[in-house]
Amino acid sequence: MNRIVVLGGAESGVGAAVLAKVKGFDVFLSDNGTIKEEYAAMLNQWEIPFEQGGHSEEKILCADEVIKSPGIPSTAPLIQKLAGQGTHIVSEIEFASRYDKARKICITGSNGKTTTTSLIHYLLKEAGLNVGLGGNIGKSYALQVATEKHDYYVLEISSFQLDDTYDFRPDIAIITNITPDHLDRYDHKMENYVRAKFKITQNLRPEDCFIFDSDDAITIDHLSKIVLKAKMLPFSQEKEVAQGAFVKEDKMVVRVNGGETDIFLKSLALPGRHNLYNSMAAAIAAKVSGVKDEVIRESLSSFRGIEHRLEKVLSVGGVLYVNDSKATNVDAAWYALECQDKPVVWIVGGKDKGNDYEVLKPVVRQKVRAIVCLGVDNAKIHDAFEGIVGKDNICDTRSADDAVKAAARFATKGDVVLLSPCCASFDLFQNYEDRGCRFKAAVRKL
Ligand code: ADP
Repeated sequence: MNRIVVLGGAESGVGAAVLAKVKGFDVFLSDNGTIKEEYAAMLNQWEIPFEQGGHSEEKILCADEVIKSPGIPSTAPLIQKLAGQGTHIVSEIEFASRYDKARKICITGSNGKTTTTSLIHYLLKEAGLNVGLGGNIGKSYALQVATEKHDYYVLEISSFQLDDTYDFRPDIAIITNITPDHLDRYDHKMENYVRAKFKITQNLRPEDCFIFDSDDAITIDHLSKIVLKAKMLPFSQEKEVAQGAFVKEDKMVVRVNGGETDIFLKSLALPGRHNLYNSMAAAIAAKVSGVKDEVIRESLSSFRGIEHRLEKVLSVGGVLYVNDSKATNVDAAWYALECQDKPVVWIVGGKDKGNDYEVLKPVVRQKVRAIVCLGVDNAKIHDAFEGIVGKDNICDTRSADDAVKAAARFATKGDVVLLSPCCASFDLFQNYEDRGCRFKAAVRKL
């Protein structure tokens, strides 16, 4: 096997191409769209031939193996053709893991991946371990395997990245939770989506660990149908567990291999019930990795949180502005609203991915005083919530500036203005980061 073709020229594709080059393959990269300048520069620097704006089939169909970027669906005609002729297609993480002996902690799930991944990385770093952070965050895993040396990796892995994995095996696998999201990519079948997430567990051995939310009905239901050899380490806020993590009075208790660590809930840096789940998952992973109790305690209370996730922006005139732009689905927004203890002016809307707003009604009734819609089509939001907040307390906007100004008019001293949009951002913004940054800029202008 000598010729490797990489499809897709963004973070993971370019990383995979560099690794393939370092390992001595004849590499070619092809992208249907435009390749960003920084990535083109990197390919040139590593002397990797590439094309953009289309695929030259004669250069691709002769590959011994193809590395496919997660953004390209398996239904794309070129992928169908490759599969039809029997070409082996793998993902970037599958390819990179062949060349990596480090211990891997891998996190997937519907919500909380980035938070949990960043938190575990922080815990291990504070413990003095040589640990890389990657996957869906920051630098690709493949590029790090090519150019750096780590003893541990903490990898955020989306279900798309788990497609086309075969032998990839984490030492510790985590599923944060499973709620409907991205169903469009899974034939609108929840079962397919759940199975895609559970692919992270497919090669676990008895000495590996599986960390999961045992309060999550979908996770538990799926676990009852499969056999996992790994050490099972659940976390729960509802009941005590023999191994894993749970809540006892005002503490979180982590119990692993006969050892027990407890941490005061009020000392945890990240707010909200959802973040307690994330902190539990992270604490179990750290304890399994041998991180000392004091380091776990200190790190869980000193972690600074990440941008666009319940990020406190500024108080203006006694009103606190919070940026939760990353809340792109109903479940994430529910947790964001649920953990507010002051009246909320809620900025919501964007590109709806088939949201069912029914589950949000009780928490909106309880916490929300006014709603600012920020999206092109807000009809569903009006239908769902106008009756709850009243029609004088809901309005439509199409820019972050207007949304923040409208929210400021609704808010009174002691309120929280919460951007937790429940929707994707692509109708008005480039991505959720762009939406969050424009929101913050608008707040600073008040
Ligand atoms: P992901 O990487 O899975 O998208 P993030 O950590 O970026 O997750 O958080 C995305 C959104 O979901 C944020 O708005 C955050 O407040 C919310 N969130 C974080 N953790 C959880 C959780 N465990 N359950 C539900 N929602 C969560």
